[in-house]
Amino acid sequence: MKEPENHSCQWLITAAVIVTQDDGRRILDNGAVAVADGRVTAVGPVSDFADLSVEKRLDLGNALLMPGLINAHTHVSMTFFRGLADDLPLMKWLTEYIFPREQRLDPDIVELGALLGCAEMLRTGATSFADMYLFEDAVAAAVDKAGLRCLLGEAVFAFPTPASATAEESLARIRRQAERYKAHPRLSVAVMPHTVYTTTPEILAACRDLADDLKLPVHIHLAETRSEVESCLEQHGRRPVAYCRDLGLLRPSTSVAHGVELNDGELDILAQAGVTVAHNPRSNMKLASGVAPVPGMLSRGMLPALGTDGAASNNALNMFAEMSACALLHKVRGLDPTLCPAQIVLDMATLGGAKALGLEGLGRITPGAPADMIALDLSSPNLQPLYRPVSHLVYAASGHEVMMTMVDGRPLYHNGQWLTIDYPLLLKEAAKLKKWAGVPSMPLSAGAY
Ligand SMILES: [Zn+2]
Repeated sequence: MKEPENHSCQWLITAAVIVTQDDGRRILDNGAVAVADGRVTAVGPVSDFADLSVEKRLDLGNALLMPGLINAHTHVSMTFFRGLADDLPLMKWLTEYIFPREQRLDPDIVELGALLGCAEMLRTGATSFADMYLFEDAVAAAVDKAGLRCLLGEAVFAFPTPASATAEESLARIRRQAERYKAHPRLSVAVMPHTVYTTTPEILAACRDLADDLKLPVHIHLAETRSEVESCLEQHGRRPVAYCRDLGLLRPSTSVAHGVELNDGELDILAQAGVTVAHNPRSNMKLASGVAPVPGMLSRGMLPALGTDGAASNNALNMFAEMSACALLHKVRGLDPTLCPAQIVLDMATLGGAKALGLEGLGRITPGAPADMIALDLSSPNLQPLYRPVSHLVYAASGHEVMMTMVDGRPLYHNGQWLTIDYPLLLKEAAKLKKWAGVPSMPLSAGAY
């Protein structure tokens, strides 16, 4: 560790256990983390910090301190569709329940939905996320208020949306957003074409050129379903990965959401291109999209990221639930309990997410890293006894043991209180979401059990 005696710090945070996610995956008992100007300056046993002069101390007691989780693919505002309609075929769900309501979107609704999503992520230990939606300036306003870190992406479509009449308009909006947020400490911008089937080759080429021009990352839903692959073959004569490769979209700064329908050759292409896959196991299960070949990615040296997708198709923005689902899904799919072990899954939710967001200092507690950290209350009964902390994080924790969430050295949630969000007011406002969406007339399933 660095010599903490040589400088003062804003915070000295102590905890019973620190999971660092550093190169050696060190886990410290009775550890401390010094934080100054939003960054970690030192990590080590509490005894090393005895002479350090500090402005504030945060003794978390019997808690586990770890890097904040990174949600590498979501549509945070879609909390307003949580539980609106479940258990339906994808196209019926989209065309009858989601799309008609999205036609009525406006920035106020998007901001309110995003703030609710931010509250949920702070509560369950996510400190940063990649977001794709419409009216991303409204998402930015919510994220800025809540204090999280976000890679913002105005979705680009070939057809008119409530936010933009044309794809060109969306691209112009992204250009303005990139300028607006370029000096922001926690917000950054990516180019996010929605999918290969909701855009055209010309639009995808324009997205690539804009990303080149402004040096922005690219994020796209890719190879999510079999029908996407079939329509891509029919319309463009190639499967989605080859189609995107030929358009120059696959590069190290690109992340793709889902990657369910990938064959061995396509995994090779993505691995060689340095693309990160944001794996969304709960969304893929709920929409019956399939199982992404995560073991095949790992065997090629790829570290996928993890994402929740939107609350309409999950229905949570809880990265602990996502880690558990990931670890279990691949075991049962491969009939092999050694697949996707806990440490790998935690790496996906931290270091993999950092790569996906293009923020490679994130996802670890090491000197110089942004001070994005969370703490779990180890006195929870479901965390007793504690043999191996990483096992508990993936298999035993629910996310609701999170007692403190900090981003950029600033506590945002602590001991049941949101420190940047007026939660009672947000709850009142959230009632408006239901009124806006309207109660759907969903037939009750009369099937036999
Ligand atoms: Zn998505």
